[in-house]
Amino acid sequence: MAREQDDMLRRGIGMTSQRTRERLIQRLYEEGLSNAQVLEVIRRTPRHLFVDEALAHRAYEDTALPIGHNQTISQPYMVARMSELLLEAGPLDKVLEIGTGSGYQTAVLSQLVERVFSVERIKVLQDRAKERLVELNLRNVVFRWGDGWEGWPALAPYNGIIVTAVATDVPQALLDQLAPGGRLVIPVGSGEVQQLMLIIREEQGFSRRVLGAVRFVPLLNGPLA
Ligand code: SAH
Repeated sequence: MAREQDDMLRRGIGMTSQRTRERLIQRLYEEGLSNAQVLEVIRRTPRHLFVDEALAHRAYEDTALPIGHNQTISQPYMVARMSELLLEAGPLDKVLEIGTGSGYQTAVLSQLVERVFSVERIKVLQDRAKERLVELNLRNVVFRWGDGWEGWPALAPYNGIIVTAVATDVPQALLDQLAPGGRLVIPVGSGEVQQLMLIIREEQGFSRRVLGAVRFVPLLNGPLA
């Protein structure tokens, strides 16, 4: 990692105790997350910079927190789990993220893959996420204000696609935009009944794995100013 970037990330440390952060990593490890690279990135990413100051003291709890506009910053466990699933078969160069939100998952991903393309429908959330990533000197991310149901066709195909809101069905556009061997990690369902799924584009068609119950805010329709 570039020295400058390392310094920027380190600056966040100290604002909340190092011990609290270590405790989170220990907890994720005990819950079965074993990708050392993912855990290390979570350790050094200052999650408290992605929530309101009033909530900063809770930033290293393993829970989702409100970020305004009825949205939440994803739970660290889920960020780690989805990142692990994406990377399970090896490194990725192009990853599409649907639902930038606070930009926290984006920041984690940007340190694990070559390039991230991130789509968000709420303009103000996107603007704030952009600022945070610039502040952390994470430069390999491109943002788009738009509707995630459509993916980002102009830059397709992607080796990985991650959706951080629950979809009633798997969006066809996202399947279309997966490269051969590409991996899509997506919560599917509605309300209380949601399952995390891993879908892989095989030589012929797609394979699907259901990975267990999850809880996400809904993938909505259309961009919002
Ligand atoms: N990973 C984010 C999670 C944000 S919550 C974080 O850790 O902060 C889910 C996000 O998906 C919200 O910001 C919401 O506005 C966005 N979203 C919902 N429907 C969408 C759609 N159709 N297209 C793009 N973004 C969408």
